[in-house]
Amino acid sequence: MFAVSKSKRVLVCEFHQESDTFNPLISTIENCFEKVRCAYGKDAYDKAKLVPCALHGMIDAVEEFGGELILSQSLWGGSGGRVADDALNFLKEKVSADIAKYSPLDAVFVSLHGACCTESEDDASGALLSYIRELVGPDVVMAASCDLHANTTPLMLASADIICGYQTYPHVDFYETGYRAASLGMRKLAGEKVCLAATTIPMMTPPAGYTTQQEPFKSVMDYGKSLIADGTLQDFTVFNVQPWLDIDPIGCTIIAVASDETVACRYADDLAQRFFAIKDGLWPELMSVDEIIDIAEDPNSPKPVILVDSADSPNGGAVGDSAEVALRLQARNATIRSGMFVKDPEAVKKAFEVGVGNKGYFEVGNKFTPDMPAPLKGEAVVRSLHDGSFLQEGPAGKFQPCNVGLAAVLSFGFADIMVCEVPGASGDPQILRHFGIEPKVYDLIVVKANTSFRVPYSAFASAMYNADTPGAGTSNLKRLVWRKLPKNYYPFDLAEDYVPAPATIRRG
Ligand SMILES: [Zn+2]
Repeated sequence: MFAVSKSKRVLVCEFHQESDTFNPLISTIENCFEKVRCAYGKDAYDKAKLVPCALHGMIDAVEEFGGELILSQSLWGGSGGRVADDALNFLKEKVSADIAKYSPLDAVFVSLHGACCTESEDDASGALLSYIRELVGPDVVMAASCDLHANTTPLMLASADIICGYQTYPHVDFYETGYRAASLGMRKLAGEKVCLAATTIPMMTPPAGYTTQQEPFKSVMDYGKSLIADGTLQDFTVFNVQPWLDIDPIGCTIIAVASDETVACRYADDLAQRFFAIKDGLWPELMSVDEIIDIAEDPNSPKPVILVDSADSPNGGAVGDSAEVALRLQARNATIRSGMFVKDPEAVKKAFEVGVGNKGYFEVGNKFTPDMPAPLKGEAVVRSLHDGSFLQEGPAGKFQPCNVGLAAVLSFGFADIMVCEVPGASGDPQILRHFGIEPKVYDLIVVKANTSFRVPYSAFASAMYNADTPGAGTSNLKRLVWRKLPKNYYPFDLAEDYVPAPATIRRG
């Protein structure tokens, strides 16, 4: 194998957050990273070892290959609006202090999401990697792991020698991806030739429209895996950038890693052409909210009907404050039983003042996401009050705790709405079930998630329909107002005769 002497010093750090630039709320250390992981050194090591995350995979690879591990700062937060500048500055300070303390280093491995923006940096991942590269110089090996939805920019590719992304969506290979990136880094340290070729396609598609388990994406991934299995490539990634980033540069980057530059370029081109060819098959079928309510109102349709409001999915980076479906139900004087959640700290506060069993006038939802209609207004009964803590039923996150802050259930006629301060685990039925909204006994349930809900809900839902709703995570990308997105971009104005640019070697 590629044994590395103990003298090889590897610094590992982490900056993992997925930003949605249409979500105006700022993700801070307190409201974002401390909720999941803000840890340093031994504490970060112990916490990472408890879960199959990318950082865990990196740690194991460094240890297995005999490197000396220096674990610096880990920042891991959920999806949301741009990250506060303070958070990235805090990470940079910790990392630069450790680089100064432990230099000379042989390698730096960084666990990233890769689609992160701060208040002042559209390419926060590139800014971090280039900052580290400046500190350590050109010869230290740098490797990064990213989410499949990363925006892998020219600055990231100019800074890191190796970038590996998840090969699954829904994502189940966090650990493996960290391990792949770090083990390739260790192999390069041991003298093996590792050449990364990349090309970026100006395109974006919504995550609600595809998985890697189904065609047409599955074939592209299967082809890439066959190139690994037969030894042609050392690694590959097809990044399908998450689309709620109004920034430039942005695109889907296809990476192939091989011991030979020509082979790496050839197969990056091959994978890019295959991926570009399937782009029209990566879209969800969207129905109007009224069409879905019509189905739920049909006495002959089995229940519950699931209306998927992925545009407002907090898991995808949206706010979770949309009252769009409740407004449509109210406008129609609907008498079907419906259940949903809405982020609304003001309504929660008022519910605690009004008290359980009492009636009050409420204005719910549509208070944070830009360009939404007015809130849902009217008399509602406060059914219950909660501290917001619950355990997820999974399978993703099974038995993991979640806390949505203070919460209350309000009944607006036949619509039961769980209002909360900070929605989380939004694809897990417990975000309703725990609060007394048992999805099985409703006619219509609104689910604000992209794909995570499908496994638990398919156990009892009669049908699930993707709705064409407004929000910071809409699949109908043409609903959004784009200011910075480059011209000549799919699905907007890409030239008919566009062909992906030839892949090139970025470092080495
Ligand atoms: Zn992702």
